Amino acid sequence: MTKRTRVFGLSLMAVIWLFSSCAPRPAATVPAAKRPLVLGFHVLCESSKAAEVLIGEIPSLARQGVNLLIVEVDYNFEYVSHPELRGEDPIPAATIKRIVGLCRTHGIRLVPEFQSLGHQSWDEKTFPLLIKYPQLDESPGKYSGNKGKDPWGTDFYCRSWCPLHPDVQPIITDLYDELIDVFEADALHVGMDEVFIIGDADCPRCAGKPTAELFARAINDAHDHIVKKRGKEMMMWADRLIDGEATGYGLWEASKNGTHPAIDMIPKDIIMCDWHYERSYEKQGTKKATFPSIRIFIDKGFRVLPTSFRDVKVVKMFIDQSLAVPSDRMLGHLCTIWHGLEPGQAARLPQLKAASKKIRKASGRS
Ligand SMILES: [Zn+2]
Repeated sequence: MTKRTRVFGLSLMAVIWLFSSCAPRPAATVPAAKRPLVLGFHVLCESSKAAEVLIGEIPSLARQGVNLLIVEVDYNFEYVSHPELRGEDPIPAATIKRIVGLCRTHGIRLVPEFQSLGHQSWDEKTFPLLIKYPQLDESPGKYSGNKGKDPWGTDFYCRSWCPLHPDVQPIITDLYDELIDVFEADALHVGMDEVFIIGDADCPRCAGKPTAELFARAINDAHDHIVKKRGKEMMMWADRLIDGEATGYGLWEASKNGTHPAIDMIPKDIIMCDWHYERSYEKQGTKKATFPSIRIFIDKGFRVLPTSFRDVKVVKMFIDQSLAVPSDRMLGHLCTIWHGLEPGQAARLPQLKAASKKIRKASGRS
């Protein structure tokens, strides 16, 4: 190499270095370094019978590495502040205490869930709040038998409470408090997924208001109580904060009813349980699903707990894509089954086995 070519070569290297240091970094394709990760399990617990079964399954969940258990109780606890809102077979406090003790023994973080705002009915059954206090319904007197078309043209799904009715929060925060206390919890999951009835044209308080502002109000009211007043963490389902059009997720796993701008109107310390269940999304135009919402939430400053359902292939894809996001704000993975457990079922769930294998490996756990 002559002096001239060496100088040229060095200059070329300097230019390349300068260029590469300014260029955007390519997306990470390798998992972040091993670190403790959450392996969560979300389960419905809608009766005292279901709670007894859950108690029997906790050791099995622990053996699979579950270190976060989200128990969705909703109205099915023996509430003292509002006994009129108890479900048909409410769980006694003594039973919850056995769950608390077992989770503590096995090193599992236990978090209760109360479905808030939406999901105030299922099929033809309306849940206690809107039965006892029909004036709190966002669409009172409408959708007889919980049937009909909602304003977005889809079949009526679930009732919502009115986020602006002044009587809602005092009642609901009483229930939140009882759950936090009996579960001895350091966090509460408030649900808030799949809210389709919001800003109803016949609600005297909400009609005409942007649905994002109404949704943010519901989140901020819950946060004021759970985080600011009680000093606990708050978790929620994340779908209403994602643009269903831009991400290609559609109207179930993301929002097409205008709520998603609420993502910029709420505190960043809420843990987003970002659920996705499909192998592909037509609007994404890719053969395999991509899950852009993980980065969207992390880039906004939130912590994310990606959440999957029963399709093992999707569970693996979702976890692999999550682990490729180099951020400590990607917390791990949450499995859900959307029903109660049956005796012996926890040991057999293929999706939990798959998630357990990947999360343990990525955590450096055996
Ligand atoms: Zn309203």
